[in-house]
Amino acid sequence: MSIDVEQLKAGVDLVAVVRQYVKLRKSGREFEGLCPFHAESTPSFTVIPHKGFVHCFGCGAHHDVIGFVQAITGADFHGACAQLGARDYQAAREGVRREVEAPLEGKWVALMPVPEDAPDLMAGNGWTVPIWNPKTSKLRRMKPTRVDAYHGADGALLGYVLRCDFPDHDTGKPRKWTPQVTWCVGEDGKRQWCLQAFPEPRPLLGLDALAAKPNAPVLVVEGEKCRAAGAGAWPQYAVVAWPGGSNGMGKVDWAPLAGREVVLWPDADDAGRKAMLGHCNDAGDVTPGVAMYAARSAARSIRLIDSSGMPKGWDIADALNVDGWAPRQLAAWAAARVIDVTVLPA
Ligand SMILES: [Zn+2]
Repeated sequence: MSIDVEQLKAGVDLVAVVRQYVKLRKSGREFEGLCPFHAESTPSFTVIPHKGFVHCFGCGAHHDVIGFVQAITGADFHGACAQLGARDYQAAREGVRREVEAPLEGKWVALMPVPEDAPDLMAGNGWTVPIWNPKTSKLRRMKPTRVDAYHGADGALLGYVLRCDFPDHDTGKPRKWTPQVTWCVGEDGKRQWCLQAFPEPRPLLGLDALAAKPNAPVLVVEGEKCRAAGAGAWPQYAVVAWPGGSNGMGKVDWAPLAGREVVLWPDADDAGRKAMLGHCNDAGDVTPGVAMYAARSAARSIRLIDSSGMPKGWDIADALNVDGWAPRQLAAWAAARVIDVTVLPA
């Protein structure tokens, strides 16, 4: 296929294309907005329609319309041309403008597994490629402190949970954010990485380990960091965690625990124990924990490593990475603290 690039570019409205991804404000003959290619709080990204390119004075990004679509969607040259040729942006201009201002939540559907031709989420130097946030209708790159890939039993990529650390906007105190990122298709067929949770029931982290070690006991820990620490230290276990924290537990597919010996490792605080064991309030309302989901999924046995008395919030990652415990030392400690779990009736 040969493409008449000049004709394609002449027939496309650069501003309308860019507006699909970036909120723009007119400034003389140009338009400006927050750069989608680097993190910034004041606009240095400029669209120069009469010259036919975009330019960022912050990071130096410089593209014509085809290059812009390539950079922002991860498409190759032909893919970008196809996207541009496939639509009448000029006619869609008003519609696009309305859409950018209206929330797009719910219009993106995660594809699992992620197709092999999807671009890598990480662009290098610790930055992601631009990720679409359907709730804010904004595209942004992120520099996460952790990137955990979720894989299916067959090893196929399902999506990611990122961890981003940042100071609180008001108090300056450190905060963390652990969004799920999935490869999604939009209503118009467009595909991109989105801040969109896994479809429910959501996958466990470590399905590949569960499948690879069908007879191994399963260690359930809270959070991606603990899962990585546990998996690295204890290869005799299939170590799993779940996405979405304690509030997301009920949205997870726990069925892969069927028939398995399950060992729960709670964070050493009240919230950690509640997450694993569930709890019952004064009115008698039961909030299920992992133990109950494991029981409902017909786990063969359910035990708990009693971490009470350890520092508040202490977990397997603290033991290995902060306190410097050797895996064997930790195993000996844990073996002395394993107790059987009585599952509350739900
Ligand atoms: Zn920039």
